[in-house]
Amino acid sequence: MNTLSQLPSVDRLLSSPAIVALIELHGRAMVTRLVREILDNTREAVKVGAALPDDAMLIEKVGAGGTALATPGLRPVFNLTGTVLHTNLGRAQLPEEAIAALVTAARSPCALEYHLATGGRGDRDDIVNDLLRELTGAEAATVVNNNAAAVFLLLNTLAQKKEVIVSRGELIEIGGAFRVPDIMKRAGVKLVEVGTTNRTHLKDFAEAITPRTAMLMKVHASNYAIEGFTHAVLEAELAALAHEHNLSFVVDLGSGTLTDLARWGLPHEPTPQETLGVGAAGADLVTFSGDKLLGGPQAGLIVGRKDLIARIKKNPLKRALRVGKLTMAALEAVLRLYRDPDRLAERLTALQQLTRPEDDIHAAAVRLAPTFQAALAKLPVTVEIVALKSQIGSGSLPVDRLPSAGFAIRPQGRKSGVLNRIEAALRALPWPVIGRIEDGALLLDLRCLAVGEEEEFRAALVAFITS
Ligand SMILES: *Cc1c(COP(=O)(O)O)cnc(C)c1O
Repeated sequence: MNTLSQLPSVDRLLSSPAIVALIELHGRAMVTRLVREILDNTREAVKVGAALPDDAMLIEKVGAGGTALATPGLRPVFNLTGTVLHTNLGRAQLPEEAIAALVTAARSPCALEYHLATGGRGDRDDIVNDLLRELTGAEAATVVNNNAAAVFLLLNTLAQKKEVIVSRGELIEIGGAFRVPDIMKRAGVKLVEVGTTNRTHLKDFAEAITPRTAMLMKVHASNYAIEGFTHAVLEAELAALAHEHNLSFVVDLGSGTLTDLARWGLPHEPTPQETLGVGAAGADLVTFSGDKLLGGPQAGLIVGRKDLIARIKKNPLKRALRVGKLTMAALEAVLRLYRDPDRLAERLTALQQLTRPEDDIHAAAVRLAPTFQAALAKLPVTVEIVALKSQIGSGSLPVDRLPSAGFAIRPQGRKSGVLNRIEAALRALPWPVIGRIEDGALLLDLRCLAVGEEEEFRAALVAFITS
């Protein structure tokens, strides 16, 4: 008997009321493609013995397929990992001022490269040049896609076919893809390593200088700390040595912030202003990220000597690495917030998260505990409010932890598989909840859950109960 002939035709399915509703939602082309695909798959399955589905089952499959295709790939998540500047979750959350600025720039034509005073062509870097000069004391500034691009462009412009001397202890890898030696090679620069992993002295640099040397470079050891018997050369000494030999001295700060974080009880991170210039450490150029401690959009900033910045801007690769108007709009808005350091911790979202008091986070845990416990009530786990340590993230300040609070979910008895199942189910929610598994517990750190998002989080947990 030919069971296959009992399968509905594409047309019959497309004219059923439920599918007509799906066409309203997703468009005819997509739904037709889904119907074909599902009928083809069903035919193959039935040929090898699967039961023949009825129309309702097929329609349900089309609905599920439509929902999956209509779900954006870039989805918002709840970052309960405890890492504030989480690279895989998009790093800094922008402040409202920056969000408003980028929405405006998205909606309207804007004077991105247009000189309103003269009607002539402008330079997009001018949008933030004065602000960066004001905030860092640098003579000039330029902006590219990210800090890796900043380092690459700087090296390629100022040291191509020449040698750059770096301490062995600073040949770092950040987040898998950024390795200083690889960037140097691609920039056409010969890397000269000096010193040892834990100790490098000024004379190591001095002895390595040759007529082919273009630059001395210091890379901030962002994501790790070497402790114990260590020695690094002071930036001021490196600057003096470089300048004695007519070389430039550049510093890749990685995570740049423009204020002293110690003011808020956070560990001090070196700033561009103290790394540049006379009386400070004396670097000629400094590079740093826009979306790490700065709290802005993804960008790479290069600040320092005007003549060197001018050369960097003339490199044809600058065009390939430049930022778009959305980034510029958000970056300008974030930099403006730094003009008023007294209100920065209230206005700059990343700093607000980093300085959020432990008591405040604990209070959020107490508020959410009943919903959370109800969500997990039927599972063989215990849930408790615990003290946690958050991390700043993005390679900044690796040894410093911020006292925080949240939930610890532990399996009852030896059913450790249940944690992985809960972790995966939370990740699969329409608004996914991302935690971390550590020492046999699933930990959800509430530092980055804003008070205003608690209702949405509750709704996510209700979805969890019904899933
Ligand atoms: C993070 C970091 C980079 C890479 O910056 P991106 O903005 O991620 O491209 C380069 N150097 C250092 C020292 C860093 O910390």
